[in-house]
Amino acid sequence: MKGRHQPLSPGVPIIELDGVRLSYGTTAVLRDIDLTIRCGERVAVIGPSGSGKSTLIRCMNGLAVPQAGAVRVFGSDLRDDGALRYCRRHSEMIFQSFNLYAQRNVLDNVTLAPMKLLGLPRRVAEAAARQHLEAMEIAELAHAYPFELSGGQRQRVALARALAKGPDILLLDEPTSALDPERVQGVLQAIERATERGITTVTVTHELGFARRQASRVVFMEAGCIVEDVPVPQCLDAPRSTRLANFLNGRL
Ligand code: ADP
Ligand code: MG
Repeated sequence: MKGRHQPLSPGVPIIELDGVRLSYGTTAVLRDIDLTIRCGERVAVIGPSGSGKSTLIRCMNGLAVPQAGAVRVFGSDLRDDGALRYCRRHSEMIFQSFNLYAQRNVLDNVTLAPMKLLGLPRRVAEAAARQHLEAMEIAELAHAYPFELSGGQRQRVALARALAKGPDILLLDEPTSALDPERVQGVLQAIERATERGITTVTVTHELGFARRQASRVVFMEAGCIVEDVPVPQCLDAPRSTRLANFLNGRL
């Protein structure tokens, strides 16, 4: 692969968007976005519905492709096929709806990729999977099938499955917005615990309490633009822009 990725040490740029523009038809969804995320950062992306948050994070693993500008992940431009493969292999995305393999039990859901993609022997993959399920507080569900689980439990399985691949980057797109209200906090806490150490995260969320606890930095988007991009306390306690203040007030 051309443009080998850089070694990962804290503070090294790991996701870089440079003049990114993306439209669907005549709708401009991302308007000239510059954003650098460094290794180990935990970024929360907030903003009104339709402001381009999902599209922004989908650009970070090539699920959305900008018409102009560059996206570099692990130091390499995702337009390069090798860079895209490397990115897909070393970053994981969690969606609002938990895309589990319906015909497989929980343990298989978590071990399949490590065995197939990473070539781990079943014994090793299962031991690791059980640790991830334990961390997600669903160890007892190893042999259950997705249809038997609540939304919160399914999302915990999706998280265990993502983490079992040992990603350097975890992208989360409103991971709790499809859950029953009583399941939300438990899943957010599980995400907080799982992302305490080192992994770079970018989370689209409307949960401002979670953003305050988990994130180190908040990006506020509106109409395809980044309006604020600052460390958490400043952003949420003393927003600089009237637009962010209004957004935050609307949520109180
Ligand atoms: P957010 O996640 O902030 O709600 P999105 O990134 O999902 O915003 O969407 C931003 C805008 O792009 C919206 O107007 C949405 O309708 C439009 N959009 C998103 N995905 C597509 C798509 N695949 N095709 C057409 N329009 C889309
Ligand atoms: Mg969205």
